[in-house]
Formats: sequence, C-alpha cells, structure tokens
Amino acid sequence: MRRNRSTKIVATIGPATSDKEKLLELITTGVDIFRLNFSHGAHADHQKRFEAIRWAEKKSGRLVAIMADLQGPKLRVGTFANGPIELKNGQKFRLDMDKTPGDIKRVCLPHPEIFKALEKDTDLLLDDGKIRLRVKKFGADFAETEVIVGGKLSERKGVNVPQVALPISALTKKDREDLRFALDLGVDYIALSFVQRPEDVAEARKLIAGRAAIIVKVEKPQAVDCLDRLIEVTDAVMVARGDLGVEMATEDVPGIQKRIVRGCRRLGKPVIVATQMLESMITSPTPTRAEASDVATAVFDGADCVMLSAETASGQFPMEAVAIMNRIIEKVERDPLHRQIMDAEHPATEQTESDAMTTAASNVAHTIGAAALVTYTTSGSTAWRAARQRPMVPVLGLTTSLVTARRLALGWGIHPIAAKDVDDFEHMVESAVNHAKNSGLAKKHDRIVITAGVPFGTLGATNILRIARVG
Ligand code: PEP
Repeated sequence: MRRNRSTKIVATIGPATSDKEKLLELITTGVDIFRLNFSHGAHADHQKRFEAIRWAEKKSGRLVAIMADLQGPKLRVGTFANGPIELKNGQKFRLDMDKTPGDIKRVCLPHPEIFKALEKDTDLLLDDGKIRLRVKKFGADFAETEVIVGGKLSERKGVNVPQVALPISALTKKDREDLRFALDLGVDYIALSFVQRPEDVAEARKLIAGRAAIIVKVEKPQAVDCLDRLIEVTDAVMVARGDLGVEMATEDVPGIQKRIVRGCRRLGKPVIVATQMLESMITSPTPTRAEASDVATAVFDGADCVMLSAETASGQFPMEAVAIMNRIIEKVERDPLHRQIMDAEHPATEQTESDAMTTAASNVAHTIGAAALVTYTTSGSTAWRAARQRPMVPVLGLTTSLVTARRLALGWGIHPIAAKDVDDFEHMVESAVNHAKNSGLAKKHDRIVITAGVPFGTLGATNILRIARVG
C-alpha cells in the first residue's frame, strides 16, 4: 500500500482507538507511526495495543513504527483534603514536603530537587501554566509563594519550573520500569520527555543498548539552549509544543519550531511536529482553518511527521482527524510552492561517499523523471540521507532488517520494505524493480534509480548507482 505523500502521520493510541479493526482502519486512512503514551494506562493496556498494532500492520501489508513515549520527570502537586481550591491573585501559598492533604494555604510538592534549585522570584507554573506562583522564601523542603495568576487548582496537577535547570535525570523510576517493559515488547522508538541536556540522552542510550531508536522531545528552554548538540546525539526529535508552550512564552513556540525543523533537516534527523494540530477535532468532525494552516505550515517547513494526540487517543473523531490530516498533506505537497521551498532550503551535500551517491541518485531521478529512488540499506543510513535530500520521488528503503525497515517509517518520503537478501548484481536490480512495482511506486515502462553497495550487506558501502526500467 503506497502513500501519495511524503510527510508522515503519527497517531497517539488510547481508549478511542485500541481495537484492532480500528487500528487497521487508521493505517489504511494514513497512520505511519503509532504512539503509546506512557503518561496514561497500565502496562497491560499498552501490551494489548502493541499486539493489536502488529496484527493490523500484518493485515495492511504496510510496515508501521511504534513509539513508546515515556512520561519523564513530570512534577505534580499532591492532594487536597476538600477537593479543588480557588487561588486568588496576591494571596500567599506554601508548597512543602508534608504529605498531609492540602488546603487553601498549602499543598505537598513531593520533589526535593525543585526546592534545591529554587531562587528568589522563581516562577512556578501549575496546571499547564494556567496558575503562576512566585517564590518569595524557600528552604530545603518548602517554598513560600505569592499567587501572581490565580485560579482553580485540583489535586495532582503538573508543575513546570522553566527558569531553572533541574538537577534531575530525564528518567524517573517509573520511566525505567516503563522503558524495560517497552523494550521487551519490541517498540521501535523511545521518546524521552523533559530532556535538558545531551547527557540525558547518553544515559538513556546506555539503558536502551540499541534495542530501539531515541526521540528527544524538545519541551524545555534548557533543551532549546543546546539544540544542535541534542540533535547530534539523538536519532529523532519531537517538537513537543504542549509543554514547550508552558515552559516558554506561547509567542516563542513558532520560531523555535522552525529552528528545530531546520536543524533536523540540516543534520538529516527526522523531526515530528506535535500537539494541538487538530485540537478542535477532539469534539468536532472538522478542523478550524487555523488548524489546517498549522498542519500545512509544518509540511511547508519540510517536517518528517505531524502528530495527533488526544484527537486520536480519546477524541470523538479519530478517523476523520487522520483523514483530514492526510488530505491537507497531500494538497500542500502538490502545491508548486512546496517544491520551491524544499529546494530553496536544501541542506548542503556533505563530503562523504554516501551523500555523494544519494545526492547524485536524487538528481538523476529528477532529471529522467524516475518513478522512485530505491536504496538498499543495512543500517538505514543511506535511506535517511536520501530523505534528507527531500527528493521529488518516493524513496523505497529496502533492507533485510525488519527493525531498520520499521524505523524508516518515520522518514520523509520513505516507503520501507523488509526484503530478502540479494546475492548478485542482476538479482539486486530485479528485486528493486519487483518491489517498486509491487508496492505501487512504479508501473510498467517506468524507470527507477537504484543505489546499493557492493559487496552486498556491508555497512556504509553505498557505491553503485543504476537506472532500471520496469518491465
Ligand atoms: C507535549 O508536551 O507536547 C507532548 C507531546 O508531550 P505530552 O503529551 O507527554 O505532554
């Protein structure tokens, strides 16, 4: 099953989309990557969903990737004795380590590391930034604050501390347990939340030990400050606009989104634009014009993926959300302006054999009007570099590794296929032609451009470029 677009769709799975027939319909409607959100649900729920996705993948005949999104060190207040409280501007409010249920004067904040990192006049943002508290006095286990922006506060609401770098790992005890579980399931990607520094990625990479690829969620100002280094050490990036818009001013988000997408395109790392893309479709069958335009902007910027969260996890119109996202992407990618932008913002070819070959292959494909660019790849690297070119034709990522193939589902314009090994040149050409034809990327008399490495199966040895006609 081929897609008629290059930008991929990530869908978060939840109660609205857990049964296997729905998952199959989501794939046929347009989902390329499924996201299991470990902030919600028990391990048994995730296992059921994982198995249902793999069932749907097999039925659909199209490989899809599965991402486990770890909750990360999400800070939360404790409980209240008599339900939600109403904080008034200017009043005093205390946060401390006392686990006794709170009231209008105080609540527990069970995170000693926050108190250690505080400074006078640090702002604490509660409940997605709706409430703002300013620290006036603090000690090792308390903070006296003044309410700058009040409102209703209920138990277990999130706390963000954007102004200070917190001395905490990006992986909590729960994350480590979820990580072990997700790796045993066999997910393709692990998304790390609230990453602050490259060391957070190194720590996770050690634990993951190659069993999955890593997605860094950029949602803290500290991550934005070391963006280039983070992009270098990760396998992929998510612009997590939900928490990013709490940690930073709303008006900062669009510019940061552009910087992240550009940085990822330059380094050839896949990038996902996430959160509130079609938010109104949680309860409405059609998006707003502004939402359609937001999806279009990410596509015009050349992002690899756009993501749906509650729209597909718990919304009333998950299928409609995927269908409209699919239609917006198809429309934008057919707009002549889209190609002009892709070409104008083309990252420079690096002086490596792999880049020389993929750039040449992409140029040849454009020049002769080929139907597809077929890359034989072992680690996936050649296909990623080909996708970095944002070529005019689809990239068929042919690999003997099912793991590599599924990871490639994230890549712009890549149609991943796990194929049998080839042992000689003629077989390589024949197999490329057959796969291009069977996957619907090329038809009789079309030409395809093939890159491969000899000897076959050697890592990093792309050294052949061949034009073949589909018979
Ligand atoms: C976000 O904050 O935008 C995001 C994708 O993360 P989460 O859904 O875990 O809040």
